[in-house]
Amino acid sequence: MQRQERDPTSQPVIAALEGQECSFCDEGELVRNTYKGNDAVICDACDTPGAQFW
Ligand SMILES: [Zn+2]
Repeated sequence: MQRQERDPTSQPVIAALEGQECSFCDEGELVRNTYKGNDAVICDACDTPGAQFW
């Protein structure tokens, strides 16, 4: 069985999270951004990162 390498140019987790409602506040929406220099989705209202990749 072959393990799938994670492609750094294609991040389905970010794509899946992008545009979702923030779970930490009522008005925010997750947008693609960077957090500490890494790709992430961050709430546009409260700046809470929804996901990040190292
Ligand atoms: Zn938020």
